[in-house]
Amino acid sequence: MGTATPPPDDAPVVHPVVDPATERVIATVPLATIADTDAAVARARAAFPAWRATAPGERARLLRAVADAIDAHLDELADLEVANAGHPIGQARWEAGNARDVFRYYAGAPERAGGRQIPVPGGWSVTFAEPLGVVGVIVPWNFPMPVLSWGAAPALAAGDTVIVKPAELTPLTALRIGELARGAGLPEGVLQVLPGAGPVVGERLVRHPDVAKIVFTGSTRVGKGVMAAAADDLTRVTLELGGKNANIVFADADLDKAAATAPYAVFDNAGQDCCARSRLLVQASVYDRFLELLRPAVEGVVVGDPRDPATEVGPLISAAQRDRVAAYVDGATVAFRGRAPEGPGFWYPPTVLTTTDPAEPAFREEIFGPVVSVLPFEDEQDAVRIANDTPFGLAGSLWTRDIGRALRVSRAVRAGNLSVNSHSAVRFWTPFGGMGQSGIGRELGPDALDAFTETKTVFVSDDT
Ligand code: NAD
Repeated sequence: MGTATPPPDDAPVVHPVVDPATERVIATVPLATIADTDAAVARARAAFPAWRATAPGERARLLRAVADAIDAHLDELADLEVANAGHPIGQARWEAGNARDVFRYYAGAPERAGGRQIPVPGGWSVTFAEPLGVVGVIVPWNFPMPVLSWGAAPALAAGDTVIVKPAELTPLTALRIGELARGAGLPEGVLQVLPGAGPVVGERLVRHPDVAKIVFTGSTRVGKGVMAAAADDLTRVTLELGGKNANIVFADADLDKAAATAPYAVFDNAGQDCCARSRLLVQASVYDRFLELLRPAVEGVVVGDPRDPATEVGPLISAAQRDRVAAYVDGATVAFRGRAPEGPGFWYPPTVLTTTDPAEPAFREEIFGPVVSVLPFEDEQDAVRIANDTPFGLAGSLWTRDIGRALRVSRAVRAGNLSVNSHSAVRFWTPFGGMGQSGIGRELGPDALDAFTETKTVFVSDDT
């Protein structure tokens, strides 16, 4: 876990929020203390019995009202994310819409939830899906609104109360969604947003004896610490962690389509995406041809002012992130790159590296920036071996017109989310999550509710 010393509880600590496209401070946000965190947990705990007892139809109505409130403020939320995270306006609108849709999707759950009746000798066994209690949702800076909704909406639908801790760098949309939810009628303490430092508020939530479950999305390093700390009380965890995902292009694929989409598969959100396909594996027989097709696609990516609707890629989140990305590229072989504005702003151009050494750090480690490494492979076996040569297992793509190969390779690659002849597999109504060191548990889709309830079995004797 983090080693930072928590601030004394009487220290007023504020965090400057910076627009990464201009480097200007756009807001200051007070950081919660350990005492604030304990008070929020107490409120969430106090709100739990009434929320769990709220009739399913009423819980559904309130979650729909939250979705409607997000929808009514979609432009405002999108503008806030543009300013806070530097996301291009089209993408930011998609993100706010995704949060709305996820609340709406899980609003349908309370009225459909139910247990089972299992015949046993001498009576019946009946199962109940019991809510857990207080759930902490710890959110990273790369997709603040979607990740908040992926954790909070199913937890609320299941009857849990929720405390969201946004990332230090991007608290603004979470705070606004918290206000909107309260305005939409969610009772006090049911959904709280608590901005604060990871090693203070985040760690306190994980270690708090009255927090029943943590949904953590973030780096593998911090996620491992969260799991270790959660073990003390056997606090339940869902972990959505890092990725180093492969995009595998076979010689028989539609190379035009694979090359045209490869930039979006890795440069979307400036590469700050756990699902970024940052290892591009290309069959050796079409390697040169593929790079020829890829080059104009990369050079054509529009990097710039996130407020311009034509912009496809904005700045990185911070100067530190830009330096981290640059350090991976220093010493590597740059094949070609796109354009990026000069400062101010934390810009970095889309960059294509070539390599033949899968041990190269840029090929192995999650860079979280607009950088892709291209590596040739010989045959199907070779492709699967290289794709699986990573501790991560989050996402990936493969391109082929051979249906047998598509089936074989999609079963053989170790990843929680794969797309065949498409650059993305994520939909809010299908399960999402990682294998290996990319995480534990699944979010989204119908089964996510199971992560926020515990099954209770009651035997009812018929011998009365
Ligand atoms: P991070 O691990 O530094 O921080 C994530 C969150 O954890 C933040 O809110 C932070 O304040 C908090 N935190 C930090 N230290 C903590 C501690 N000791 N205890 C509890 N909470 C603590 O990650 P980041 O840099 O914000 O995000 C980038 C990472 O997130 C990348 O590795 C990316 O792959 C991953 N990510 C994964 C998914 C997924 O669904 N698999 C989605 C988005 C991002």
